[in-house]
Amino acid sequence: VARPTVIALGGNAISPPGSAGTAEEQTANIGRSMVQVAELVASGTRELVLTHGNGPQVGNVLVKNEIARDVVPPVPLDWCVAQTQATIGFVIANTLGHELAQRGVSQPVVPVVSRVRVAADDPGWQAPSKPIGGWLTDAADVARRRSEGQDFLAHPDKGWRRLVPSPEPLDCMDRPAIELLLGDGAIVVANGGGGIPVVDDGTGLLHGVEAVIDKDLAGSMLAQQLDARRLLLLTDVPGVALGYGTDRERWLGPTPVTTLRTHLNAGEFGTGSMRPKVEAACRFVERTGGEAVIAALDDLLEAAAGRAGTRVLP
Ligand code: ADP
Ligand code: MG
Repeated sequence: VARPTVIALGGNAISPPGSAGTAEEQTANIGRSMVQVAELVASGTRELVLTHGNGPQVGNVLVKNEIARDVVPPVPLDWCVAQTQATIGFVIANTLGHELAQRGVSQPVVPVVSRVRVAADDPGWQAPSKPIGGWLTDAADVARRRSEGQDFLAHPDKGWRRLVPSPEPLDCMDRPAIELLLGDGAIVVANGGGGIPVVDDGTGLLHGVEAVIDKDLAGSMLAQQLDARRLLLLTDVPGVALGYGTDRERWLGPTPVTTLRTHLNAGEFGTGSMRPKVEAACRFVERTGGEAVIAALDDLLEAAAGRAGTRVLP
């Protein structure tokens, strides 16, 4: 099998900020993104793995959990991730399948419910850092949740937001299935939302845990494991900027990984937004010698051809 391309789609490709996030809106947004992906496939990139974010979607599932907690038992965070992998995977399969058929391409699109192993002793467990869900305003409710072991970020005006650990992705447990599907010519959707975080209890049995894995780091790990020829991280800006949002802002074109790593170590990039993408790209390039690109979703074809975005070079 030829080495696959791995594409990581940001949350904006699915539910841009400011949109209500109805099923119709999300379907339309995913459909628009899949036009780009279908063009790439039709132009000859047949070995393809897609991964995607799920922040807004998982936030909504958590809200429903809480509102309905006296009627149906709340489900744990790993179940919430599994649910969003399924719904987003369904819509991707449906919209991408249609766009491919219109271009005369008959490859199946297969979403895989994907588990990613994390370490039970990851340092992330000691310092929950990833905000999830909406802002809560009821102090008594937050106190009850704290007594149940949840952690919160406090904001003077907005209230409280839940913080969960974000452990390092170690291993995609569904990689053998993904490889079988790729080998049979499928386009695979995997590791959505960073993957369902699981730990091995020592007997080989996996247990879901209350954490969220960064989707860019999980996409990079999967690309490394699949020996991908390249990793494309797609978002809503044209690439990586130095001095982002300042008057010395400068967008980076093709950049050696050592240079980018130096900027990263100097604290140049926004934590929680561009930083994980740059880390994900650097890891892939450092460990495989392949190329990674951070680019705007709208520039997918140009980015894949090396003509747009920030190319990270070995
Ligand atoms: P995604 O949903 O695609 O993961 P994020 O919001 O996490 O998107 O990350 C993309 C955002 O990162 C951009 O919209 C931009 O506002 C922000 N950003 C922060 N620092 C930088 C930077 N140095 N260069 C470019 N974008 C940056
Ligand atoms: Mg992000």
